[in-house]
Amino acid sequence: MTNIINPRNCPVCGSTDSEELSVYCLKEWKIVQCLQCSMVYLKNPASYEELEVDYSWDSTFIEEENRRKKKRGVFKNIAKLIRNTNYKYRKSDNDRYLKILGPGKILDIGCGDVVRWQPPFIPFGIEISKTLAKSAKLKMQNAKLLSFDHCLTEY
Ligand SMILES: [Zn+2]
Repeated sequence: MTNIINPRNCPVCGSTDSEELSVYCLKEWKIVQCLQCSMVYLKNPASYEELEVDYSWDSTFIEEENRRKKKRGVFKNIAKLIRNTNYKYRKSDNDRYLKILGPGKILDIGCGDVVRWQPPFIPFGIEISKTLAKSAKLKMQNAKLLSFDHCLTEY
């Protein structure tokens, strides 16, 4: 987590004038509002290379989950546990979406390393984490779902 790119201008109007919204800032991330057009944006985004490795879900999940647990408190953590238990007993996403959409191509953005789409879906996944993308590709090859060069887009 070293190469956060230089502060950028407003992505809408290009203005350099902005005001930090410190209540929304977390750690090194600077959330600002453009003084010209009011766009709220991240002033110092990470580079794509950092997003692929340093800030990917698999690298940051445990730390972020612990931070959220502390912030939520006991009652909200119990509610989350109950909600997660309900997810385990409901129909699979594959069955639910098959009923709604019918068979065909499906795009899973931020698919992680989970292969959750089975035939008759034709799954395509986008995952920015290099580690998770490689793992997903291997799992899809092992499951013999498709011609895998077309199934997974790696950045
Ligand atoms: Zn602007």
